[in-house]
Amino acid sequence: MGNYKLRKPVNPQVLLVEVQRTARVTPNVIRVTVSAEGFTPQGYDQWFRLFLPREGQEHLRLPTRTSNLWYAQYLTTPKARRPWVRNYTVRAFRPDTHELDIDFVVHTEEDGSAGPAAAFALTAKAGDQVGLLDQGCGYNPRHPHNWTLLVTDETGLPAVAGICGSLPDDAQGIAIVEVPSEADKQEFRVPAGIDLRWIVRGPDEHVPGRAALAALKAADLPVTPVYAFLAGESSLATGGRRFLVEERQIPKQNLDFIGYWRYGHSQG
Ligand SMILES: Cc1cc2nc3c(=O)[nH]c(=O)nc-3n(C[C@H](O)[C@H](O)[C@H](O)COP(=O)(O)OP(=O)(O)OC[C@H]3O[C@@H](n4cnc5c(N)ncnc54)[C@H](O)[C@@H]3O)c2cc1C
Repeated sequence: MGNYKLRKPVNPQVLLVEVQRTARVTPNVIRVTVSAEGFTPQGYDQWFRLFLPREGQEHLRLPTRTSNLWYAQYLTTPKARRPWVRNYTVRAFRPDTHELDIDFVVHTEEDGSAGPAAAFALTAKAGDQVGLLDQGCGYNPRHPHNWTLLVTDETGLPAVAGICGSLPDDAQGIAIVEVPSEADKQEFRVPAGIDLRWIVRGPDEHVPGRAALAALKAADLPVTPVYAFLAGESSLATGGRRFLVEERQIPKQNLDFIGYWRYGHSQG
C-alpha cells in the first residue's frame, strides 16, 4: 500500500455497527452515517477496515482478532462466507451520539457496475449492519519540520479534511486536493497558513490523481524542512514520492505515502 509507519489505534475492537442514514453530499460522494459506540477517535486521517456483507449474506462473519492476526483469521473463513473488506477514513465522529460519517466516492464502470464498497454506499439504508476495525492514522510525522504538504485525489479528501482539522492553528503548508467536479469540493476547517488548492479534473481526464500530480510538480516548495503526506490513486502516491525525493530532495523519512487504490484493479 505504501511506505509509512502507522500511528497505532487506541483500544481497537471489531465493532458491529448500524447504518443510521445516508446522504449524497456532492455529485460523486455518498455519506453513510453509522452508529459506532466503542470507537475511539484520534483525529487526523484515522482509517479503518470496513467489513461488508456479500450478496445473500444475512449475518456478517467478523474477525475477532484486532491485531494484524485478523487477516489470517479472515483467510481461514471460506471465501463465500467472508465479508468484503475495504479501507475507509473517518470523515467525522461525534462523541455525544457516537455517530461516525464515512464518505464513499461512488465510482461506477461504464456498464453501471460498481465495486462492493461503492455498491454498498449506493444502496445502504438505515438498519444495515457493517463491521469496522480501527487502524489508526497514516499521517505520522516523526522528524522535525515546520511546513506540511498534503496531496491527494477525491478518495483522500476525508483524510486531508481530518488532517487539516487536527493541525495546530499556526500550521504552514499546502494541501492539493483533486476532485472530479467543481461541485465535489467540500467545506472543512483549514488553518490560515495552509494554502488549500482544489484541482478540478478535466472532462477528458479519466485517471484520478494525474492532475494532482501535475499540480504538485508545479508547486513552489520552501527551503525549510517539509513533511509530506501523499495518498490516493497508486500512481499519484508513488509518482509524487519519487518526484519529491529525486527532484526536490525531500528526505524519505520526511514523507509518508499510501496508495489508496489502483486504477483498473479491484481490492479483491
Ligand atoms: C487508508 C485508506 C483510506 C481510504 N479512505 C477512503 C475514503 O474515505 N473514501 C473513499 O471513497 N475511498 C477511500 N479509500 C479508497 C477505497 O478503499 C478504494 O477506492 C476501494 O477500492 C473501493 O472499493 P470498491 O469495492 O468500491 O471497489 P474495488 O472492488 O476495489 O474496485 C473496483 C473497480 O473500481 C475502481 N476504483 C476503486 N476505487 C475507485 C475510485 N475512488 N474512483 C474510480 N475508480 C475506482 C478499481 O480500480 C476497480 O477497477 C481509502 C483507502 C485506504 C487504503
